[in-house]
Amino acid sequence: MRYQISKGKMPAREIEVIRDEIDKINKEWLEGENIFVNVKINGKMTKTNGHVKYVIGEYKNFNIGISYRLWKEFGIKATLGTLRHEFAHVINMAMNGDLGLGHNESFKEICRAVGGVMNKKHAGEKYKDCLTDDYVARKPKWTLVCPKCGYTVGRHRLTKNFLHHRVCKCGTMVSKFERIQNY
Ligand SMILES: [Zn+2]
Ligand SMILES: [Zn+2]
Repeated sequence: MRYQISKGKMPAREIEVIRDEIDKINKEWLEGENIFVNVKINGKMTKTNGHVKYVIGEYKNFNIGISYRLWKEFGIKATLGTLRHEFAHVINMAMNGDLGLGHNESFKEICRAVGGVMNKKHAGEKYKDCLTDDYVARKPKWTLVCPKCGYTVGRHRLTKNFLHHRVCKCGTMVSKFERIQNY
């Protein structure tokens, strides 16, 4: 399998981690396959964590999209979980052709084997070890409100960088914002 990555706004060090992960998957599952995968870190994907696109009956070219916002909000672990999920689709289709479409049983076995994540519906009871709760469309865990100007921002994680190196347009440090925990 050959691949290329369009990195978008993703930092170079994170792209290295992603590259290592794809190389590992390639070595274990797709080496020697006549397949090309275009991986795009997509800043416009704000409703879904990832997707894979292909032409029906032609399992040689795949486009994988990974949400940049997923990384921004949930970090590299969630990003790799989604990346592995999308590659599990590629592997399943490479191995089974038209029979490897969708979230079937062979997909789930591969997804688990590569360490990919699944939503509640797909994981069910059998694959609950693969379950993830990290979704870009999900309401953020934290709502932060500026005590001076009322500016409001949502965050899934409160990182030191975000709290201590960001300043509101009114001049208030984000660390001074009121914190509302949504769940
Ligand atoms: Zn899927
Ligand atoms: Zn403010």
